[in-house]
Amino acid sequence: MTDVKKMYINGEWVAAESGNTLDVTSPATGEVVGTIAFGGQKEAQMAIDAADEAFASWSALTARERAKYLSKLSGLLAKNRDELAGIIAAELGKPIRESVGEVLGAVDNFTWYAEEAKRVYGETVPSTFANKRLHVMKQPVGVVGAITPWNFPINMAARKIAPALAAGCTVVLKPAEITPLTAVKLFELIEQAGFPKGVVNLVLGDAPQIGEEFTSNKKVSKITFTGSTRVGKLLMRQAADQMKRVSFELGGHAPFIVFADADIDKAVKGLFDSKYRNTGQMCICTNRLFVHESIADEFAEKLAKRIERSGVGDGRDANVEIGPLVNQAALDKVLDHIEDAKGKGAEVLVGGSQLTEGDYAKGFFCEPTVLKGVTSEMKIVTEETFGPVVPIITFNDDEEVIKAANDSDYGLAAYMFSNDINKCLTVPERLEYGIVGVNDGSPAQTQAPFGGFKESGLGREGGKWGIEGFLETKFVSYGI
Ligand code: NAP
Repeated sequence: MTDVKKMYINGEWVAAESGNTLDVTSPATGEVVGTIAFGGQKEAQMAIDAADEAFASWSALTARERAKYLSKLSGLLAKNRDELAGIIAAELGKPIRESVGEVLGAVDNFTWYAEEAKRVYGETVPSTFANKRLHVMKQPVGVVGAITPWNFPINMAARKIAPALAAGCTVVLKPAEITPLTAVKLFELIEQAGFPKGVVNLVLGDAPQIGEEFTSNKKVSKITFTGSTRVGKLLMRQAADQMKRVSFELGGHAPFIVFADADIDKAVKGLFDSKYRNTGQMCICTNRLFVHESIADEFAEKLAKRIERSGVGDGRDANVEIGPLVNQAALDKVLDHIEDAKGKGAEVLVGGSQLTEGDYAKGFFCEPTVLKGVTSEMKIVTEETFGPVVPIITFNDDEEVIKAANDSDYGLAAYMFSNDINKCLTVPERLEYGIVGVNDGSPAQTQAPFGGFKESGLGREGGKWGIEGFLETKFVSYGI
């Protein structure tokens, strides 16, 4: 009999009322790696009721009391690092070293927000009148409905749950159906950490039903979502009816600019970090590579050599650097972008095909790919590819490349490599992106703000900015 992983609602492990279940499979081998209970609207409602019930007592705790629970959870995550990383590698195919890094990111988030909980300060404001005193205080927004994607199954949840709990909110999490086993393990640790019942809840199942309940249930005050821009827009429309607080971390289309004066080796390393991590399935992944024409050949040659050294395979194998795509649809999209570019005149410099021989036949593998001669009418220049493909676009005018980099509906991350201090200072000011890596291909850190301009989202996660979205500002005027 299969061990069906259940939902965690009001401190209890709960099966779906319908009895429905869903198998979770490895994208590297197709094998079933677990089975979950598959709930929906009913379970979301139960979880919201529990979170609402728990809110009064959780928000009444002192910040130091809440911080103790977060610290305890952080310690348990660190202790269970390898097991969690193994689950991520199994259900997502993410290379094991990266999976360990992701778990450590989650540990860091809980540690950080255990501390940040204590630094939610109020203010006093000088009054116009001698007989009044003006106080401004911060209060938790209430019950939070959190929805997360599959590409960072533990850290996306941690970046929402940790600041929400620190602020005094209670939470219902709905993780992606492709990677729910990591979330179940996280909740086993939440149970061990001893959080009071109802403070943090897990629902698994039908996404549109759960999203509808989150956005229409008056007990939910805030929706925090990470995922595609399409679903983000849908949730924003749904949440508008009750003017719910919302924050969105959505898609990206990062430009990566290598100026003529850049350190080419450093830029190749930065590009590799920003493009091939998680098999190109990151919102801050490079999607358009702009290289000055005077160094384009040398850059492409060095990049090709770096790619040749990278092992492709099942993320559970310690030698693997690039894993499979997450599913057939993801693989189809990547192959479609490659074919579209080739059809419109791009040249394949490295890779370019699905891997189908031997063990590769069981999974969704694509060769790490570099395309040359890419032009603006190709899909890869406007749509998020979410795969291990780099399109090289050459330029010879610095002003033009800034314009081209900003020519996108997205505005999450951008990268630039240069050894000119003036360029390093002024170009980031002109890039319409929420995150800019200057000579840095992996800029994200727990204590820094993470989020996008334009259709890449609303609000910020990380650091002191990450807790703001879970707080209301209240002004109290005292007549004396
Ligand atoms: P997605 O299809 O939008 O799914 C994200 C989450 O939303 C999943 O839990 C999904 O549930 C749920 N969902 C789907 N339809 C829904 C609906 N109608 N109502 C409520 N929830 C719904 O995105 P994805 O493919 O998982 O993730 C990749 C996207 O996330 C990319 O665009 C990437 O750039 C973005 N991303 C952004 C950031 C950031 O910080 N900006 C970070 C990571 C990823 P099911 O899985 O059950 O369908």
